[in-house]
Amino acid sequence: MKIKKQKALNIVLIFLSILICLFIKTNSSSAFEYKGYSWKKNNNSWPQYRVYINYSTLPTSFKKMVFFSRMEWNKKGASKQYFYYSKKSRNRIYLKYEGNTRYLSLTYITHREYIISREPVIQECDTKINISKNWNIIGTPMPWENDLQSVVTHELGHWLSLEHSGNLTTMNKFNPMGTTFGRSLHQDDIDGIQHIYGKK
Ligand SMILES: [Zn+2]
Repeated sequence: MKIKKQKALNIVLIFLSILICLFIKTNSSSAFEYKGYSWKKNNNSWPQYRVYINYSTLPTSFKKMVFFSRMEWNKKGASKQYFYYSKKSRNRIYLKYEGNTRYLSLTYITHREYIISREPVIQECDTKINISKNWNIIGTPMPWENDLQSVVTHELGHWLSLEHSGNLTTMNKFNPMGTTFGRSLHQDDIDGIQHIYGKK
């Protein structure tokens, strides 16, 4: 009874963040920024932070690129955090025709804060990719194409609670067309993720 009451008291504040990735030029030179909340820790499992992504509705060629993006975080990121694929997960990456709007992709993050512990925990993440834009799916992008793998790797950084960062990192807001430097994590991205989820 007491435990039930505590649970009811705990689950009160729910927030929704929307991250718009325009990939336009900025002059930011700051280092990584942490949004302040993370995935729920499970002390009884390894890795302790497991994030399940459902990208089952994507075409096969897109799926391959998302796989590379999540493996980049898994290989170089934090010791206690790992991305898994699950078609049952409510955390989704999906395509949407959005017309000629400015953004390439949008990430929605729902997080809640527990009243007693004040623990800010991510509940759900979803990324919408604007399929109306020019995308490079496989190989080297042309100068007028956005590199899908770079953009998804960037979005997964938001999933893990990283904000936009300085130049020439995966988490930089500026990711020019025709480039692929966002595919690989840079030292600043790695420092950021290890700050939140632990060193390798
Ligand atoms: Zn972004």
